[in-house]
Amino acid sequence: MKKRHILEFSEKIAAPLSVIASPQRIAILLAIGKGEACVCHLEAALGWRQAYISQHLMALRKADILQDRREGRYVYYRIKNASLLDLITVSASQSGLSADAVSVLINTQVYPSCECPHCAPALIPLNALNVKTP
Ligand SMILES: [Zn+2]
Repeated sequence: MKKRHILEFSEKIAAPLSVIASPQRIAILLAIGKGEACVCHLEAALGWRQAYISQHLMALRKADILQDRREGRYVYYRIKNASLLDLITVSASQSGLSADAVSVLINTQVYPSCECPHCAPALIPLNALNVKTP
C-alpha cells in the first residue's frame, strides 16, 4: 500500500521535472527569470526562431510551469512558482557550476532588437508609466 503511494507520488513529481529537463527549456526559464518575457524578447535573448520558442513555451504552459498574460499585442510569460529557479540553481551546482554563474544568466537585461515595452519603454506613453498592472 505504502509502496504504491510512493510510486504514484513519484510519477506525479517526475512529470513537471521531465517537462523542464531539456537544455532549451532551462535556457527559456533562465531567460524569463524572475520577471516576464514575450516571445520576441526570448527570440532576441536566445537567438532561436519564434516558432521554435513558442513550441517550448506551449509545453511549459501546458505543464502549468509558466503562466501568460496578454497586454496589447504582447503575450508575457512568467514562471508561476519562482522557487523553480532554486531547483535550477541546485541542478547547476550538481553540474559543478556556481550559484553566481547561474544568477547572472537569470533575465535582467533589455534587448535593443526586442521592441516589447520592457525593452523599449520609450514606446510607452509617459502617462502610462504610473499605471499599475494587476
Ligand atoms: Zn523585450
